[in-house]
Amino acid sequence: MEIYSSLITKQKSFFKTEQTKNVSFRLEALQRLRNAIKNNEKSLMEALRADLNKSEFDAYTSEIGFVLEELRFTIKYLRSWAAPKKVKTPVTHIGSNSYIYPEPYGVALIIAPWNYPFQLAVAPLIGAIAAGNCAIIKPSELTPKTSEVLENLIHEIFPEEYIAVVQGGVETSQALLNEQLDYIFFTGSVPVGKMIMEAAAKHLTPVTLELGGKSPCIVHKDANLKLAAKRIAWGKFTNAGQTCIAPDYLYVHKHIKYEFLKQFKETTIELYGQEPLKNPDFTRIVSERHFNRLSSFFDNGQLFMGGNTNKERLTIEPTVLTDITWDDSIMKDEIFGPLLPVLEYDNLTEVVEGIHHHPKPLALYIFTEDNNIQDEVLTKVSFGGGCVNDTVYHFVSPYLPFGGVGTSGIGAYHGKGNFDTFSHQKSVLKQTTKFDIPFRYPNVKNGLEKIKLFMK
Ligand code: NAD
Repeated sequence: MEIYSSLITKQKSFFKTEQTKNVSFRLEALQRLRNAIKNNEKSLMEALRADLNKSEFDAYTSEIGFVLEELRFTIKYLRSWAAPKKVKTPVTHIGSNSYIYPEPYGVALIIAPWNYPFQLAVAPLIGAIAAGNCAIIKPSELTPKTSEVLENLIHEIFPEEYIAVVQGGVETSQALLNEQLDYIFFTGSVPVGKMIMEAAAKHLTPVTLELGGKSPCIVHKDANLKLAAKRIAWGKFTNAGQTCIAPDYLYVHKHIKYEFLKQFKETTIELYGQEPLKNPDFTRIVSERHFNRLSSFFDNGQLFMGGNTNKERLTIEPTVLTDITWDDSIMKDEIFGPLLPVLEYDNLTEVVEGIHHHPKPLALYIFTEDNNIQDEVLTKVSFGGGCVNDTVYHFVSPYLPFGGVGTSGIGAYHGKGNFDTFSHQKSVLKQTTKFDIPFRYPNVKNGLEKIKLFMK
């Protein structure tokens, strides 16, 4: 579409002015973004409340505060990340020095989903700015209030030829993808991720795909059950289960299943109250379509706890379903809601095989005190990232690059990983002109013999 191609052309021209390559310019932009987020905290909280009924606590911890912390960390280290790095040089290259220059790609498109509509749009923006790119954000159409606050906030502090927000749904996203971009950073579902990669392939544009899937959570017989119950309930029911790395389903050892579930029920009541549907701070389901999809799973297995819903307010109680098998409909796709199916196991091999029969998960959680069991699961199962004896918390560390593997995603970000994602690593050899080692040339006497001394 005309308007998008003209916006991208403007950004490309701005990129060519080389202003974004100046690290002080980037630092100033990051600081401006940080101040604007702080100044807009109230309107962001109101928007997140309107779009998803997020409480102020959730809005701050998982969206606003998270992004402020990513900004603080990036501002602190950017000068050292952005500097060219001297690396070793092999003896065959005597006389020369080797360097890696991180350089920005140019114009980056960031496509964001609705579940953490502010954080998942702004965290990649921080990486894009830090690395010296121009950027266009396409936020989710399912969280219109947050997208509007985001658009206004960005519009106030950046000219559109540098950073722009383009609102719209699927057609807008596709129109942007038709253009020649320099980088595409997509967070969303697996099916749409495939379409993004197809569109990117037409222009050979590099991509990061932050996708989803079913993330298992294993509770072994020797786990600290009280703590496991609390950490799993928190990771699962935060944002009403609409978290890409929420424990999707439980594998619980049969010897401790009932003791664990008892603890789980108690801790869920402590966290969200006896009647979570009356808790004014319990996040709602994003749309009626998603609500109906989740409601269709209630007849799976046996209802252990929860099960009540409020269609008018689009809320669903924290719910646990037991006696589940892989044949149940709830086990077919990522759940993305406050329903937790429970499979039981006797032997860890069953667990590993069960997971191996399905696409590689975005996250995996294992609760056990036994180091050998931890190592067995960590070495045998491939997954994006995860925790031992916790859930979700790995996401919040700037030292742990976050991303998927296989169908759960390509690439990673957060902390330095965010800067690296939006930078091309340009390798450069600086050669001496003071002398010239002759062996590489084809006309040197006994050249091959000499070369073989070095290349063996
Ligand atoms: P989605 O894939 O439906 O939409 C994501 C974005 O893509 C939106 O901005 C949407 O407008 C756009 N889009 C939708 N269809 C498109 C199409 N055909 N062509 C081009 N663009 C299109 O995802 P969602 O429902 O917003 O988010 C939920 C999904 O995102 C879940 O699968 C979840 O696991 C995943 N997710 C992953 C992460 C992660 O970090 N890995 C984080 C959050 C959510």
